[in-house]
Amino acid sequence: LKEDPSFWMDHNVQVLIRIRPLSNLEKVSQDCCRCLSQESGQTLVWLGHPETSFTFDHIACETISQENLFRVAGVPMVENCMSGYNSCMFAYGQTGSGKTYTMMGDINEMEGNLNEDCGITPRIFEYLFARIRAEEESRTDEKLKYSCKCSFLEIYNEQITDLLVPSSTNLQIREDMKKGVYVENLTQHNVRDVDDVLKLLSQGAANRKMAATHMNSESSRSHSVFTCIIESCWEKDSMTHFRFARLNLVDLAGSERQKSSGAEGDRLKEAANINKSLSTLGLVMMTLVDLAHGKHRHVPYRDSRLTFLLQDSLGGNSKTTIIANVSPSICSAHETLSTLKFAQRAK
Ligand code: ADP
Ligand code: MG
Repeated sequence: LKEDPSFWMDHNVQVLIRIRPLSNLEKVSQDCCRCLSQESGQTLVWLGHPETSFTFDHIACETISQENLFRVAGVPMVENCMSGYNSCMFAYGQTGSGKTYTMMGDINEMEGNLNEDCGITPRIFEYLFARIRAEEESRTDEKLKYSCKCSFLEIYNEQITDLLVPSSTNLQIREDMKKGVYVENLTQHNVRDVDDVLKLLSQGAANRKMAATHMNSESSRSHSVFTCIIESCWEKDSMTHFRFARLNLVDLAGSERQKSSGAEGDRLKEAANINKSLSTLGLVMMTLVDLAHGKHRHVPYRDSRLTFLLQDSLGGNSKTTIIANVSPSICSAHETLSTLKFAQRAK
């Protein structure tokens, strides 16, 4: 793993808070009281005891559109990949805070166009394919060509399932000198346009629900990872050159504390494992912050499936965006505080 502390310190991790609007239920309960007050584009105050002020790279207010969120958070990810670096985006937050809305949203097209409510993932690919076409057309002399391959997996209870072949479960992570970290037997699908991506997304989302029902759990307890490998090749000085970049879009399990009191056997193991991937992610992010400040630290990538899998995309020259989703309702005050604290530790 190559580390480049100065690049990291400047802007390798972006932390963005997205406050979702009050739900209808929250509007009627407790007189719509809010636990958050936004002071500026970067600061917000948690209104509990004691009142606590937080500063982040960006705070997306309750009314931000999916399109604007994409412009702030999505475009830099694609540009980073077009420059040949890996990118990772995480949606973090308690169940119901808007993670899936942010990452996927409504993926049904409207008259052949993306829906207004469609989330960041399809928008990223619409933009990526437009950028690729423009690059290919501007560099015809070098015969520049791109190809994109996607995979979609779920980590539940520290087990990996291929969301595009749901019978393919308990997949193993391998490490290879040439390939880096990869998941053995995970299917990869060539994509040429947004429609190809939308098909994979809806297939995966349906399978995620089904798998959850089958395992008698909820999809809120699993992490889903949509990965695209962007390969480019071109000719220069009668040699063929290749470049790879990975784009990872992760919808994390709900960050609320798993009830382990009274849980036994599988349930207890499950509660521990779900906390493990999330808490290891938090530790990895914090360790990377220390590394960037010149401290010598061991990064515990291997302590969970999620961080092991994303090892090549966290740290080094990779860019990470964390979208921490929160509800502004007083009913969620404590979960919201714990999400804000997590997000702050990642900086
Ligand atoms: P999570 O994936 O974190 O459990 P969801 O994305 O499923 O949460 O969101 C819960 C509900 O709130 C959904 O009905 C979703 O459509 C709605 N919602 C979330 N964020 C927003 C938002 N920014 N604007 C409008 N509705 C939202
Ligand atoms: Mg969800």
